[in-house]
Amino acid sequence: MSDCIFCKIANKEIPSSVVYEDDKVIAFNDLDPKAPTHVLIIPKEHFSSALDINDENCEIIGHIFSVTSKIAKKLGIDKTGFRIVNNCGQDGGQTVGHIHFHMLGGRNLGWPPG
Ligand code: AMP
Ligand code: ZN
Repeated sequence: MSDCIFCKIANKEIPSSVVYEDDKVIAFNDLDPKAPTHVLIIPKEHFSSALDINDENCEIIGHIFSVTSKIAKKLGIDKTGFRIVNNCGQDGGQTVGHIHFHMLGGRNLGWPPG
């Protein structure tokens, strides 16, 4: 997707603060953090949202969660905990149309969310 900001981050056309990368995913610090640790984990392949995930391509989601565990240990929030959030569509608060998982930690996030 030539006009997708997260595809551009994955392709290194736009700089980001990378915390993890492999051939399938990249994780980088959110520009506008909502918690002391706020990382976005994205597949390098473009999917618009959770609605694009199906039986044929869902392996990437398991991979993203395996990466989440590695990042938690690397950033030292594995003991204190964290939250993984996927916003989908308008009511979900999705503003970037490339599926991404927010990884939030470093403070007590409270529940329920607003
Ligand atoms: P969402 O509202 O779930 O679509 O989340 C999009 C997130 O992307 C927001 O938390 C933004 O702060 C973040 N964001 C947008 N552009 C960038 C960027 N260039 N680098 C890092 N984070 C970004
Ligand atoms: Zn994209």
